Amino acid sequence: MSFSDLQGNENLIARLKRMICSGRIFHGCLFEGNAKETEALAFSFVKAALCERQDGDACGICTACRKFEAQNSEDVSVIGGDGTVRDKDIEMLIQTAMKKSYTGHPLFLIVRNAERMTLRAQNRLLKTLEEPPSGVRILLLAENAELLTPTIRSRCIFFRLESALQKEHFVSREEKEQALDFICGILEGKPFYALSQHIARFSSSAEDATRFFGTAEMFFRDVLVSFYDRDGSLVNEREEMQRIRRCADRFTPRQMAEAAVCAENAQKDLAFHVSPGRALKYMIFDIQEKLKG
Ligand SMILES: [Zn+2]
Repeated sequence: MSFSDLQGNENLIARLKRMICSGRIFHGCLFEGNAKETEALAFSFVKAALCERQDGDACGICTACRKFEAQNSEDVSVIGGDGTVRDKDIEMLIQTAMKKSYTGHPLFLIVRNAERMTLRAQNRLLKTLEEPPSGVRILLLAENAELLTPTIRSRCIFFRLESALQKEHFVSREEKEQALDFICGILEGKPFYALSQHIARFSSSAEDATRFFGTAEMFFRDVLVSFYDRDGSLVNEREEMQRIRRCADRFTPRQMAEAAVCAENAQKDLAFHVSPGRALKYMIFDIQEKLKG
């Protein structure tokens, strides 16, 4: 199994390869999408990251690759399958991490079905996500990342597969451009009347609003990631680097994390049948309040 065996998700795979080649793999990675695809992608990523060749994909020949294929690699621990992930499972995972970290070797901890972690399990994992032992990388795989607590999500870089991104698919480049102008207008603190055209454009249906909220959340997360990654190899939308940098210069990571939560809450409002227009106005108001404080 390697990246070259996978179908689709080209942008995401390119992003993962850049991360491997840069030698700076973020310690908390959240993969969201269809379970089978997510697993194939995450395992290909870990294999490529451990491969002795370090050229972005697994060679399949070196000792590290062969150990990985034989499920015999001491640098990988996997938990989570069909059932609930409990805090004792997380505890064991963390213990393994503590022991291995002394060797200074990379260690990948993979939690499958991460959304089946109990609240206690998530809280237990949180501290390790905040300050992982050296060399330890935690990969969370989820079909629906919204089921994880906001604190867990805010400490991870998101890797959304195409199967999770469909809801954010934009009809045209022009629509996306409008959405990003709108997002920047909100961040600049423009009042409702100055944004009325955009508000009308993105609240004409629940689908339009859903796509907009998804884009806004992704944008805020990209700004958040850019604080830790000045060359932009980890952001989702590299073509938006200029906008992303402008926001990173102007706001704090905390403000961007809060803005991302506001965009998530707006998506939840829609799910609870709040009208698109109202959900959109709540989001604008919330974000602008958070940026003032
Ligand atoms: Zn290899």
